[in-house]
Amino acid sequence: MKSFDLDSAIRKIPDFPHKGILFYDITGILTNPEAFAWCIDRMCEIYADRNIDSIACIEARGFVFAAPFAYRMGIPLVLVRKAGKLPGRIMKKEYSLEYGRATIEIQASDILPGQKVLVLDDLIATGGTLKAAVELIEEAGASVADIFGVIGLPFLNYHDVLKGYSITVLQEYY
Ligand code: 5GP
Repeated sequence: MKSFDLDSAIRKIPDFPHKGILFYDITGILTNPEAFAWCIDRMCEIYADRNIDSIACIEARGFVFAAPFAYRMGIPLVLVRKAGKLPGRIMKKEYSLEYGRATIEIQASDILPGQKVLVLDDLIATGGTLKAAVELIEEAGASVADIFGVIGLPFLNYHDVLKGYSITVLQEYY
């Protein structure tokens, strides 16, 4: 597959959402059809032979990348949502944010015991959100085949938080 300058499609917004934070804005990928297609094509290439049974993705920007991938791969798409959004029997996990705590949820019947699940978010920073999702998936009896982020910020130490898991990112920033 041809290489692509993904960095050029990622906008860097200083002081968002707080002063001193450099925000990596993936909407620059979504508005660039060539960049978006490259991401999805690359994901399909990476996971072609990995026997992934389903993909679980984090609200909301994770949904955008996971949906076309699930369609292309012909696998189930599982939504990991913020508290209170999903109906029916749910499983939930509370986790720490930079300030305060948050809760994510999945529908219990969406993850089947024994499945190999790919877990995706748009960006991996501390890894806290994905770690909570990984714990939910494992509590449901499935295993995590890989953790994927379009962008990775390894200086925020996600490799420590997600220690022992295989992690794939398309673009790293230091
Ligand atoms: P973590 O839990 O790894 O610390 O934070 C990752 C979550 O925060 C992801 O859901 C991601 O969407 C969001 N996030 C944090 N920083 C950024 C950023 O610079 N750009 C984008 N697009 N998302 C971010």
